[in-house]
Amino acid sequence: MQVAAFQERGLDADYSRFHVDADDVESAVDGAEVLGIEGLNVTIPHKRSVAELDTVETRELAEMTDAVNTLDFRDGKILGFNTDGAGARRALERAGAEIEDGRVVVVGAGGASRGISFELARNGVDLKILNRTASKARELASDIRGYGFEADGAGLDVLSDAVDEADVLVNATSVGMKEDETPVPGKHLHSDLVVFDAVYTPLETRLLREAREAGAETVEGAWMLVLQGAEAFEIWTDLEAPIETMNRVLREKL
Ligand code: NAP
Repeated sequence: MQVAAFQERGLDADYSRFHVDADDVESAVDGAEVLGIEGLNVTIPHKRSVAELDTVETRELAEMTDAVNTLDFRDGKILGFNTDGAGARRALERAGAEIEDGRVVVVGAGGASRGISFELARNGVDLKILNRTASKARELASDIRGYGFEADGAGLDVLSDAVDEADVLVNATSVGMKEDETPVPGKHLHSDLVVFDAVYTPLETRLLREAREAGAETVEGAWMLVLQGAEAFEIWTDLEAPIETMNRVLREKL
């Protein structure tokens, strides 16, 4: 996806994967800078430890979520960003979802939810985070309120009423990835919803299939993957990302 984007923009650049053990995260980042690598993506399980490195200056969402997925080596500095949240927001906006003042239910309170929830909250949505382990949803909502944004956290017992009143439903749990299961029973879905599933394998999860059948607008998790990558591309290159190309190449691989 990134290589195709570099080629389309005529850049002499490449994108490779490196396996890094937890104990080597700091030396890997320092080494990348010394080698003249211009940017990195960081994935599970290193997003938090990279955010906590003294050498990394975290920006906006990365600072709020304490998680970095993109590093930009620039002017002698190492800047840390979190583009996951923007990827989800851009995926929703692309589908015409109302973000500002929209009523959004996010199911899940793990790493993906943290990025998505912070990003949506700071863009002014009326946010409810619901999770199987209710205490985690309440903790995340409290962290978000700590930054002056609005959010409520609760357990799945209020799912039916919350979805009934919502404009947007986001699945940020891993349910639907391995089995043909859904975190939100189809009977709760309705045609006034935009339903976004962060799970991207399969492309159409059971949640999205049932949402489509209920007449809702659906947004595949693959769009978040493409658009978080597009944000990273734009940070590294200061150029507009060729989104259609990135999307096509990603889907060929998926
Ligand atoms: P995580 O930190 O492990 O969190 C998992 C979440 O799923 C928790 O809220 C957990 O609830 C919930 N959960 C797990 N099994 C459940 C079940 N059977 N019923 C109800 N809730 C359940 O994982 P993550 O990193 O947030 O990732 C979540 C999903 O997002 C994954 O499928 C991942 O692939 C996807 N993702 C997609 C993108 C993208 O670009 N599209 C980016 C990041 C992640 P408890 O707290 O109660 O355990």
